[in-house]
Amino acid sequence: MIIIKQNDRMPSYFGYIRVSTVKQGEHGVSLQEQKDAIARYALAKGFEIIRWFEERKTAAKSGRPEFDLMLKELNKSTAKGVIIHKIDRSARNLKDWSNLGELIDSGVDVHFANESLDLHSRGGRLSADIQAVVAADYIRNLKEETKKGFYGLIKQGLYPLPAPLGYVDCGKGKPKELDPERAPLVKKAFLLYASGQFSLDTLTAEMYQKGLRNRNGRPVSRSGLAKMFKNPFYIGLIRIHTSNELFSGIHPPLISKTLLDRVNDVLQGKQVKKIVQHEFVFRKLFSCRQCNRLMTGEKQKGFVYYRCHTHGCKTSIREDNINQVVQDKLRRIIFNHELRHVLYKALQKFRETWFEERNNNIAQMELQLSHVLTRLNRLTDAYLDGTIDTTLYKEKKESLLIERKATEEKLALIKSENMNIPDRIQKYFELAESLYLSYKSANLDEKQELLKMVSSNCGVEGKNVVFMLNFPYSELEKMASVSSGGP
Ligand SMILES: [Zn+2]
Repeated sequence: MIIIKQNDRMPSYFGYIRVSTVKQGEHGVSLQEQKDAIARYALAKGFEIIRWFEERKTAAKSGRPEFDLMLKELNKSTAKGVIIHKIDRSARNLKDWSNLGELIDSGVDVHFANESLDLHSRGGRLSADIQAVVAADYIRNLKEETKKGFYGLIKQGLYPLPAPLGYVDCGKGKPKELDPERAPLVKKAFLLYASGQFSLDTLTAEMYQKGLRNRNGRPVSRSGLAKMFKNPFYIGLIRIHTSNELFSGIHPPLISKTLLDRVNDVLQGKQVKKIVQHEFVFRKLFSCRQCNRLMTGEKQKGFVYYRCHTHGCKTSIREDNINQVVQDKLRRIIFNHELRHVLYKALQKFRETWFEERNNNIAQMELQLSHVLTRLNRLTDAYLDGTIDTTLYKEKKESLLIERKATEEKLALIKSENMNIPDRIQKYFELAESLYLSYKSANLDEKQELLKMVSSNCGVEGKNVVFMLNFPYSELEKMASVSSGGP
């Protein structure tokens, strides 16, 4: 056998190899295999490979530095041409292919090791063009598929990204679950920030003290907290940042929408007094007699005051003063057999109207919820029909999802046992020996309920507290006054 000696005048070529990490296993064409195929081809044709260009890229990332570098070199006529493994390695997109086409036209010799195409004949070139288009389409399709997978999961209410702080990953295709260790701390952070008594800086320190750490065991930073506070994931929604779309999640919510809203009010520097106001027993029970406006509580120098907020009105009273009047009055009512009888009758009446009202509320809210769902469906239809554009669709969808969340929360609250006020009042009367003792032993919510039940139209006139009892308590108060020899 005669071995042909390679002489100095052998035409020089580049070898171009590209390894895609996407679907690499499927193709099974490793870098070495491509290299071998090109080398075999060069040997058969009597070409010399003077330089290799090796591209290691993923299909998702754009840009091919090695390919661009090679085009530059070819333009400088450093080599006669290039040998590429296969067309789908050379034409990641049509722009690349047209660049290559220009090179061919300008005299660069392009060969494909795995395809017998004569690129200088019209038929061969056309065939290569078609293959390039197919290759480019394949890549585009691959990207679409990846996206479909991602959005497919989101549409099922799943979050295909790492779990936010306070949740744990449970595997692909499974909803995130609450992190038993961090979830309570995350919730605490929301509650503390909502109180308005912390800045992001002081809360960062506070949460560090309480032991909140991120997944890597590091302290949660100020910006980490801010990011967390804006994430609707905690109320059961999924926001996709790149497109700013909102989806309904199937993971358990950690906090209520009300709390998230309040936290964001604080973040935006809005005045937040609601939580603090709730500590005041007599809030929204007593009105300023002069302005006919309900008074709200506030703390000042260790004392609680109720104030009228009408501009220029000076009506203000200390909580101690109201409390004194209220307790004095309640103390004078003794629960005897007769009173108890009258009271239960009153409670029975209250119960009827209360349940009627509650059922009305539930029916109304369920109707509202079904309206929201219908609108969501119609919106999707309109979007698919092309009646509305993407921006409008996203905007409307977001507001509908938020409305749905809020309605669902209200509904759950109304239905909860905790909100069965008649039962609670009855239980409380059954246990109590007297109105006064009941009042003394009640918690804040119960006190408010009791006051609403026994009195109405309470007010403050100058420095005087006006606290009038409703029937039948008013009658019993009179009876007590007579028997004790009062006026
Ligand atoms: Zn006033």
